[in-house]
Amino acid sequence: MTRFEALDPEIRGVLGKKVSELGLRVEGSPVEGYVRQLYKELDRRGFKKFRPVCYLTDEWGCPDQQPVLGIPFYLADSKLRTIEKAADALETDRQIMMYMRHEAGHVFNYAYRLYTTPQWRDLFGPFFRSYRDEYRPIPFSKHFVRHIEGWYAQKHPDEDFAETFAVWLTPGAHGAGSTRDGLRSESCGMSIAWPSRLPTRNRSSRREKSISRQTTSA
Ligand SMILES: [Zn+2]
Repeated sequence: MTRFEALDPEIRGVLGKKVSELGLRVEGSPVEGYVRQLYKELDRRGFKKFRPVCYLTDEWGCPDQQPVLGIPFYLADSKLRTIEKAADALETDRQIMMYMRHEAGHVFNYAYRLYTTPQWRDLFGPFFRSYRDEYRPIPFSKHFVRHIEGWYAQKHPDEDFAETFAVWLTPGAHGAGSTRDGLRSESCGMSIAWPSRLPTRNRSSRREKSISRQTTSA
């Protein structure tokens, strides 16, 4: 008997309902705490107005170039979390916050169209480069941050930015005041100074990446 089949019938009964019948919301759900934590971290890093709008969807992601943050709906209900845990693997609180920071990076990029600026392209590469599901990362490359499992920053310039943003936002991930040549968004009048330990970007080393553009950025 699998863990899923051993679940309380009342919990499994949720599967007989449409998602729209479950009354899921960010507000008041277990997800709200993660959103509050993200906003708190943004505030701590100097963002006083930037607060990504979060919504529930079927997987982590942002619609391409749309500044909204999608959170898996099963995280918003305790029964669904139990089912997800039994059927597959449920993210830990630490992993959830890693995704929150990563997606917030996409939201920030899209909201202020940073990817259209020369500074962004110089640091991360061409935003409109094609995605491919299969890509060949360079393990332990010093030209990219490592955050989400799988050398994800090497997948695409957009993911590189999101991962770098996530590392930069993570509490305790870098020394206070260790900042230098940052990315400046003239459009929003905001300056992001990257941690000094982040490597200098080397565009030539990034041509080995391979990816195919998808409608949703993971
Ligand atoms: Zn992503």
